[in-house]
Amino acid sequence: MSTENKVGLYIHVPFCAKKCPYCDFYSVSFGKKIARLYTDAVIRNIKSDRGSAEIDTIYFGGGTPSLLPVEYISDILKTITENFTVHDAEITIEINPKTVSPEKLLQLYNIGVNRLSIGVQSCVDNELKALGRIHSFNDAKNTVLSAYKAGFRNISCDLMVGIIGQTMDSLSYSINQLCEMPINHVSAYILKIEDNTDFNKQEIINSLPDEDLVSDMYLLMIEMLEKKGFAQYEISNFSKKGFESKHNLKYWKCLEYIGIGPSAHSYFNGKRTAVPDSLEDFIKYDRQIEIVTEENSTSFEEMAMLRLRLKEGLCLSDFKEHSERVISKATPLEKAGLVKINNDTIVLTPKGFLISNAIIAELIL
Ligand code: SF4
Repeated sequence: MSTENKVGLYIHVPFCAKKCPYCDFYSVSFGKKIARLYTDAVIRNIKSDRGSAEIDTIYFGGGTPSLLPVEYISDILKTITENFTVHDAEITIEINPKTVSPEKLLQLYNIGVNRLSIGVQSCVDNELKALGRIHSFNDAKNTVLSAYKAGFRNISCDLMVGIIGQTMDSLSYSINQLCEMPINHVSAYILKIEDNTDFNKQEIINSLPDEDLVSDMYLLMIEMLEKKGFAQYEISNFSKKGFESKHNLKYWKCLEYIGIGPSAHSYFNGKRTAVPDSLEDFIKYDRQIEIVTEENSTSFEEMAMLRLRLKEGLCLSDFKEHSERVISKATPLEKAGLVKINNDTIVLTPKGFLISNAIIAELIL
């Protein structure tokens, strides 16, 4: 069976030690008792029949999955291998630096986790404070070094662009510090103010770096990371050769994945579904509620939207009936330096990535 036919498994772990004021992901306060009830519900859901899917990526996201005791994670992994065919899987867990000790990292490695995604965000303590993060840069650095010492050789770090007080110099400093660590992947996001968050206040919005500065920072980041050997393969993702996130590529390539946990999404058997944001319901019911968000999710628009996020771009030979229309729309955008047309493939340039939503809408709607 090719990788294209294998399925990803996403487990949403809805606990955080403290809510970050910019974050709108679903999470609640952590407690060991509620976390056990949640783990039992995950296990029930893994056991409920989903055919004989073959799994090649497992991703614990959140929330803060690293708050879960290792034995709970181990119980979940054991149930996965007992209920699915799992071959040589990429097994990722998101880590908040303040929530793991070197011993816990070693235990995670020993139970089979083989990829870490560490929420560093910035290497400048004042910026971490401005983000309301619970860790310092030193905490993050020690986490990366301890992870490497424990045996992890596939480590990703998150980096944030557009933080209050961030400058071109402080971003360069963060990138240089990150690249000196033994990591092979960077996920870099531009800070966006989401509606239902504490950051959605005029005084915060007024103190953010302005749009031009954020654009310059994003372009500088691409240039610096590329020079250091981290090739951009998606709008927000950079990796050393061979270290692209196999799991996240499934989302952008419209491959199948099953999501378990409150607020998790799935794309399985052609249907897109979402689990409601309720830990209470997730624990209460034998099988999670799954609301169908799309019955037949293979439209050109949807595929094109996801493909254009990738550096490899949208290959129109797969969509011949749309080719002429899209190429004619792409031609002026190419003159403006926002896309490149290589035969029948359209790729966004770094400047195009900065306004990707507008460009993608222009090309395909
Ligand atoms: S950013 Fe991460 S740690 Fe902070 S509240 Fe959101 S999920 Fe939790």
